[in-house]
Amino acid sequence: MSRGLEMDDPIEVVSPEQFKALEKTINYETPAGGFKLPSGYLSNSQVEMYLRCPTQYEFRYVKSIRSPPSAAMSHGRGTHKALEVTHHHIVDHGEPASTEEVESAFSDEFDGVLAEIPKEAQAEDGLDLPQLKNVGLSLVRIYNSKYAPAVRPSVGKDNVRGIEKRFAVSVAGVPMVGVIDLIDTNSEGVLSKMESDSMTLHGKEIPAILRTAIADFKTKSKSMSETEVAGSLQLTLYSYVEQIPAVRIDQLLKLKTPKITRITALRTARDHAWLKHVVYGVAKAIHAGVFPPCDPTAWVCSEKWCGFHSICRGKK
Ligand code: SF4
Repeated sequence: MSRGLEMDDPIEVVSPEQFKALEKTINYETPAGGFKLPSGYLSNSQVEMYLRCPTQYEFRYVKSIRSPPSAAMSHGRGTHKALEVTHHHIVDHGEPASTEEVESAFSDEFDGVLAEIPKEAQAEDGLDLPQLKNVGLSLVRIYNSKYAPAVRPSVGKDNVRGIEKRFAVSVAGVPMVGVIDLIDTNSEGVLSKMESDSMTLHGKEIPAILRTAIADFKTKSKSMSETEVAGSLQLTLYSYVEQIPAVRIDQLLKLKTPKITRITALRTARDHAWLKHVVYGVAKAIHAGVFPPCDPTAWVCSEKWCGFHSICRGKK
């Protein structure tokens, strides 16, 4: 009869070589007829929602209940639009768009999305709407003057630009879709400044793969940590799709004094293998209709962070 692991049982240490050999034996079997997924595919946000709380995923994607949009959405959409405009301008004209162009791209998108949001959901993070809009305008100005001049978006042989680039791929037999904010071919992602200066000094050209990074833009009130960026499944997915190891997050921080910070990280074949494990595991659980609630003490399981809280745990 089998028994559970006891405290004094010897622990087997698996070497990296053994782990690699083990990986090769994993067979990602696709169910006959494919995975039964509510929308026919997964995205990074679906996988992340399932991992945060499977019941939340069930409300949103299986029962198609939407939580109301928030002012944060108009802010995020506005900054993304402004950055998209300036990146296309760089490809077309070799330099960022004018300040007026990025401000107007932000404003139009911000106002358009806001018009769809109920009035009571429009105040956020202690910032009123005019403040929120001003913070967004400051952030796109800062990005446009300090970061955009060095950006060189990729342009593929098929002329597809690495700007809001869409993809549809299979990850361990699971169909996945997504949009990559930016593929920057002039990034310092992989080499340190000292390493790249040293190569240049010795007359060596830095290979394109070492200068290219996938960038994702986050509009946030609180900065992500380096550990979060190092583990981000979203960045691992993008790195896997494009087979580009360097990834980075440009955080547009909507603080009373707005600022932008950049965190870079690398992804390896081992991270890509782990991505397959995670995506396959989530797809299998969704296919089987397994949607348990999360830990009730988790931060997400609160009225503030879960839009389904009252229908899930009852009204107070
Ligand atoms: S209330 Fe908690 S368990 Fe229910 S959906 Fe929200 S996060 Fe999940």
